[in-house]
Amino acid sequence: MTVTRIAYSDRLNAGKYTALVEQASRLGRVRSLVWQRYGSIAGVGSGLTDRQVRDRWLADGTHVQFGVLANAWKETVRDAMADVAANLASAKVEVRRAITRRTTDPVERKRMFTALKADRWAVDPFLARQMRKHWKRGRNRTHDQIVVRADQHNTVTDARGRLWLAVPGLQRRKMVKIPLSSTVAPTGTLRLMLRGGRVEVHYQIDASQMRSSLRPCGDRTVGVDKGYTEALTDSDGGRHGGRHGGRHGGRLGQLLSSESDRLKERNRRRAKLRSIANTAAGRGDHAKAHRIRSNNLGTVKRERQAARHRARVRTEIFTAVHRVVDKAATVVAEDLTKRIAGRKRLGKNVNRRLAAWTKGVTAEALTNVSERRGSALVHVNAAYTSQACHRCGRFGRRSGDRFHCTACGVVWQADMNAAINILQRAGDPDIALHTPHHKVRQILRDRTDRHRTRLPVQDSSPATAERRANNPNRSAMSN
Ligand SMILES: [Zn+2]
Repeated sequence: MTVTRIAYSDRLNAGKYTALVEQASRLGRVRSLVWQRYGSIAGVGSGLTDRQVRDRWLADGTHVQFGVLANAWKETVRDAMADVAANLASAKVEVRRAITRRTTDPVERKRMFTALKADRWAVDPFLARQMRKHWKRGRNRTHDQIVVRADQHNTVTDARGRLWLAVPGLQRRKMVKIPLSSTVAPTGTLRLMLRGGRVEVHYQIDASQMRSSLRPCGDRTVGVDKGYTEALTDSDGGRHGGRHGGRHGGRLGQLLSSESDRLKERNRRRAKLRSIANTAAGRGDHAKAHRIRSNNLGTVKRERQAARHRARVRTEIFTAVHRVVDKAATVVAEDLTKRIAGRKRLGKNVNRRLAAWTKGVTAEALTNVSERRGSALVHVNAAYTSQACHRCGRFGRRSGDRFHCTACGVVWQADMNAAINILQRAGDPDIALHTPHHKVRQILRDRTDRHRTRLPVQDSSPATAERRANNPNRSAMSN
């Protein structure tokens, strides 16, 4: 298990930055060509490896056009091929779900899983159709990254204690030296991301020796429900991810709603400035238009703020998951990686985008922390877990933070009620992970109906009523 660490450049000189940007943009062309040639069934789908691509390109001279050093384009080919493969793998996850929905026959399922895994879906009409549906042909959008192999970089600390990272430039034996703001030297393969005049150095470290990985997990089985104001609520009613009180509940809720407000306000302001700039340009006042665009419509500040916000939310969510794992040997949760049915585009809606992103981070944190600390993560079908009462199973009414069950006459804390339902799904004999929504609904209805009809029928049946009428002082049971 590894985790990603990021180091940042500190006051990097503009000339060096420009040179790195040029290198990244040339490598972007390498990526584009990989996607274009091998991004479909004919490429990764046919089992082609990055080594084979390298050999082909060396043989036919494709590599000459890029104008970068050999190691740089070769590493980039490897990286881009891995992106293509990841794109394919995520499509297969969706197709696997479709298979489990289509058939319950274990032999048939196995046959299709095997065909999918071995990339032989084209021969099966159902698999071919599903792959076409889920495997969208991608294209490269990365033009600001440089991947540096582990043996191609080094670090030195200068007399003033400043750490410098040296990476290859566009010319042989001419390293570019980047001053870093951290004192910990990045190790292994590096991914340099160039953003707003600053270099982010992404690298992986082994998580097994991190202090948080050595924290023991608990010994219980705990269900969790992802929330919006709290990162997580567990089946004991523990709410993780924020202090309480205030308009938006927990700290995560506050972070997300203030970010949402900020983004909306910023978008509004930028739209206004853009229209002023356009008007000025229309009038022929290009100097003014240019001034507004470069001074007020830049992306540097915007991206730094966004990065800071992302880091804060991640910290909240990971802290919440750690607290659940403190008491759990097994965490039962909804599968949050599942995409929303219909693949609806999120569009410009700020809140929905934030919620979708938060969900992804929660999924990542659950997997990552469980794996590092040795707890098990069990995914269950979460359909209707927030609408049904965990005690009697009937559908109730949710209003804000509260869940009201008219049958029990009880008000539960809504997220805790959902978390208990999720926990119970782990042992549910009828509701499996991929049981479709409408079936889950039917199963839940049948259960409560059975419950409802069994009792009254005994008492109101003609025989019972008759007996009761004849023996007014004796209960039906004693007969
Ligand atoms: Zn109830």
